Amino acid sequence: MLNASVAGGAATTTYGNRLFIYEVIGLRQAEGEPSDSSIRRSGSTFFKVPYSRMNQEMQRILRLGGKIVSIRPAEEAAANNGAAPLQAAAEEPAAAPTPAPAAKKHSAEDVPVNIYRPNKPFVGKVLSNEPLVQEGGIGVVQHLTFDISEGDLRYIEGQSIGIIPDGTDDKGKPHKLRLYSIASTRHGDHVDDKTVSLCVRQLQYQNEAGETINGVCSTFLCGLKPGDDVKITGPVGKEMLLPADTDANVIMMGTGTGIAPFRAYLWRMFKDNERAINSEYQFNGKAWLIFGIPTTANILYKEELEALQAQYPDNFRLTYAISREQKNEAGGRMYIQDRVAEHADEIWNLLKDEKTHVYICGLRGMEDGIDQAMTVAAAKEDVVWSDYQRTLKKAGRWHVETY
Ligand code: FAD
Repeated sequence: MLNASVAGGAATTTYGNRLFIYEVIGLRQAEGEPSDSSIRRSGSTFFKVPYSRMNQEMQRILRLGGKIVSIRPAEEAAANNGAAPLQAAAEEPAAAPTPAPAAKKHSAEDVPVNIYRPNKPFVGKVLSNEPLVQEGGIGVVQHLTFDISEGDLRYIEGQSIGIIPDGTDDKGKPHKLRLYSIASTRHGDHVDDKTVSLCVRQLQYQNEAGETINGVCSTFLCGLKPGDDVKITGPVGKEMLLPADTDANVIMMGTGTGIAPFRAYLWRMFKDNERAINSEYQFNGKAWLIFGIPTTANILYKEELEALQAQYPDNFRLTYAISREQKNEAGGRMYIQDRVAEHADEIWNLLKDEKTHVYICGLRGMEDGIDQAMTVAAAKEDVVWSDYQRTLKKAGRWHVETY
């Protein structure tokens, strides 16, 4: 499933002998010293890279703190006498995929927004608050379920709600709301349309004096007990909605609590479907979750995810990047961008299929590495990733929510 044959593989034979010029900025000085195959010019370093080493070279550059700003075929650079600026690659890509048409959007009525506002929030009740990190894992992450049966709160998969923590800030004013991605489907974990669930990591960090600081709202949420009240606003958000097309390929890239909307998608695709309550949404497409976490004990919803994979092997693919336990190709920690780099050619081929949507959720900053990997994959076919990505975003097929 979800292999290169879906949309035609990369033309390795055509491209196999070619050389590419990488323009890189931000390399750490000592380690990024020019080698035989590199030239430095006005802040950029240019590397000549054979097709067969494109992925490895990208990994090496990332490891050295560099950022690839462009990739061009060497023959084109030679036609310019190898001259800078080498900003953008081929304007008329030789093998440019067909432009991505716009996906069918949800209509405005389908998407509830701001039913409850901060000046008059909905007050829900905590039904459960369960730990998601197993023994030996890092930090505190909780799965919370709230009873919303008394109000008018409705939501759909991919939206967020606001939480107003109890208490006041250091100026004596009520705390401001914080947003949390909804981790349940519109039908809720009890499949009775009466609950909403969240996946919350308690923020904890050391300040300059070495004191442990607890995040206000995440600590409030993680400490709630069944029966407690919780002030809820929203729902909000249209960026992360699932495509209406039930035959879509849905590629999810998430780190940590970024799993929350993906849990909602997967339940909608498979679990709610199984219970035959989704007459309007019978998913027949392919879902692929690439999930980055530090340790096995930190794999949030591990049992649920693996049970789904075992039950729906043809429709759901699960790939972990476990940074402190797995190694990337270069022997370093396996972060999500390394996994994406490993599969970038396959993802690139999938993206040429107009049914493919990518969703990125979790730690801010994770997009950079993903973009680098996709830049390399696209360049192999003389396509400028940033241009192509723009068409995907415009078509509503590239969705990002990071925080
Ligand atoms: P606060 O008390 O507000 O503290 C946060 C502040 O602490 C930061 O603004 C920063 O100034 C400071 N800070 C943080 N880390 C450090 C550090 N290492 N060193 C120094 N200062 C630091 N969170 C989830 O857990 N799950 C979700 O599903 C989720 N979904 C989200 C969806 C969206 C659309 C957005 C925007 C955010 C989401 N968040 C999610 C994050 C959430 O909204 C809160 O930001 C988070 O829980 C922290 O809030 P807090 O009140 O606990 O921290």
